[in-house]
Amino acid sequence: MDLPIKPQSESKQLTDQFGRTINYLRLSVTDRCDLRCRYCMAEDMVFLPKSDVLTLEELYELSAAFIARGVRRIRLTGGEPLVRKNIMWLIRALGAQVTKGLLDEVTLTTNGTQLPNLAAELYEAGVRRVNVSLDTLSADSFKAISRRNKLEAVLEGIKAAKNAGLQVKINTVAMRNFNEDEIPGLVSWATGEGFDLTLIETMPLGDVQGGRESSYLPLTAVKNQLDQRFTLKPSDYRTGGPARYFTVGDTRSRLGLITPLTNNFCDGCNRVRVTCTGRIYMCLGQDDHIDLRAALRSDSKEENLNRCLDKAMGLKPKGHDFAMSDGEMIGKVNRHMSQTGG
Ligand code: SAM
Ligand code: SF4
Repeated sequence: MDLPIKPQSESKQLTDQFGRTINYLRLSVTDRCDLRCRYCMAEDMVFLPKSDVLTLEELYELSAAFIARGVRRIRLTGGEPLVRKNIMWLIRALGAQVTKGLLDEVTLTTNGTQLPNLAAELYEAGVRRVNVSLDTLSADSFKAISRRNKLEAVLEGIKAAKNAGLQVKINTVAMRNFNEDEIPGLVSWATGEGFDLTLIETMPLGDVQGGRESSYLPLTAVKNQLDQRFTLKPSDYRTGGPARYFTVGDTRSRLGLITPLTNNFCDGCNRVRVTCTGRIYMCLGQDDHIDLRAALRSDSKEENLNRCLDKAMGLKPKGHDFAMSDGEMIGKVNRHMSQTGG
């Protein structure tokens, strides 16, 4: 299938009501996952019926509509993107748009369990960087947080990614009473492997057993702890995303901090998220959304999709409302991260 992409000069660049250019799409390709990370999903998570989920061809057509409106980077996410059947078909199709110069990058955020089999194929398809989520290097802790015994597969996957030539960034959710003491070790390991590592504060997305406040760990505290052990120099490296970066000693690795609760980062937001059912969410931390699936399945697909995207730009909020107030997380949204796409 060839993408019906119009040169961007013929269509309007996506720009929101605050003048922010939207050139980055995070596309969730499934809500399913082979792990059950406690901060992300409940054990007995009810997944969407397959009939509600866009087909790979539809995800491809949606991507085309965004590319035509000036989106230059697409990150596939989920749920776990690599458990979606035939996902390599979509990745190859998007990789071909990078080759044609219509996209700057196709990449993904993954838990890494499928990388032992797919890393080399991803590189061949045009992927050059992957974010791998890893909160601990201890098998017991991994099982405790993800409710699955798969650390070995993830570490093997990370090795396969590195061997395939993929640049790896590790994403770690920082949690009190869980990996607090392990974070310096994770930073040492990642820098030793030549990886960047980004720490993320837990966000109040969807209900999880046990609540979130008890495990909330402000990254300001973690940064103070890391300063005792590493020389962290502020870096002007930016990805247009929420992370602030630091160089780590004299290594080539960077430490990123994503601090939605302690430091709002929405001013330069350049992204929107689309779920695997075709809902566009203009902000991870707000509920406003528009259904693109009906437009995608209509007779005047292109026109209707463009109309929806224009409407979405008018609705993109200034920012999220996540914050800590009197020991309680506020600004919660009811969707789990796995539904919107991380
Ligand atoms: N399954 C893939 C993975 O784990 O990388 C992609 C989807 S996952 C939802 C994307 C990212 O969201 C992961 O790095 C995960 O740690 C993070 N995440 C999930 N729930 C979160 C929450 N409530 N707060 C902060 N980060 C969260
Ligand atoms: Fe799955 Fe990623 Fe959520 Fe963990 S964070 S349960 S790996 S979607």
